[in-house]
Amino acid sequence: MLIELKNVKKYYRTGKLNVKALDGVDLSVEGGEFLAIMGPSGSGKSTLLNIIGCLDKPTEGEYILNGKNVERLNDDELSEIRNNYIGFVFQTFHLLPEYDALFNVEIPLIYRGISARERKERAEAALEAVGLKERMKHKPLELSGGEQQRVAIARALVQEPLLILADEPTGALDSKTGNSIMELFCRLNEEKNLTIILVTHDEKMARYGKRVVHILDGRIESITLN
Ligand code: ADP
Ligand code: ADP
Repeated sequence: MLIELKNVKKYYRTGKLNVKALDGVDLSVEGGEFLAIMGPSGSGKSTLLNIIGCLDKPTEGEYILNGKNVERLNDDELSEIRNNYIGFVFQTFHLLPEYDALFNVEIPLIYRGISARERKERAEAALEAVGLKERMKHKPLELSGGEQQRVAIARALVQEPLLILADEPTGALDSKTGNSIMELFCRLNEEKNLTIILVTHDEKMARYGKRVVHILDGRIESITLN
């Protein structure tokens, strides 16, 4: 099992108030799954994604990622896991406007000290995988929103992560472009056996996941298969 969450609880303390963001979540995810986490605003989706993405730790319960007990790790170890295992895709694309698509995709590899030649090869391959081979030399503002999101997906792929976490990745796109991004995730999941976890409040987008976890008030309400 790639991911195992066991009775995960998360509380936020604000003043005297204790907000229960996650209230006992049990969830297992196998490698190669395409999972959608769906729920209304305030249901705990971001909190769950932050825990799965090792940006935050559970208050109670266990999180095992690829055999490692994450809740026992310190901040440096968590950061190392993020950098090595997890590719993040956000609603806004977070590309550097002054650099072309190719360089934006190379950035995570620069941090890892990979040679310029290997960086270029891997970034080109990642851009090809998202259908942007012809646009490598374009800067973000010379690309459409959908193309910018593809660059961001290539930047997540280039690290060869264990899993991709996508937080409302179509939120800033029109519905047709959004669908094409979801189709790209489906293709990457099928062709590369890439594990994808999508968080969304949009039922139409959640339908692209093979399994949908419905979350409400910090609890899993139901799990459905598509
Ligand atoms: P969603 O992503 O589904 O909108 P969140 O995980 O952001 O839900 O929030 C779940 C609950 O936890 C909400 O009640 C929210 O107000 C609360 N919450 C989230 N982050 C914090 C925080 N940093 N401090 C206090 N409360 C928080
Ligand atoms: P480091 O601690 O090594 O500098 P960071 O914590 O800045 O690493 O980032 C590691 C990974 O986590 C990056 O891939 C980054 O995109 C992601 N990340 C950082 N902050 C957030 C955030 N608030 N929400 C989601 N992902 C984040």
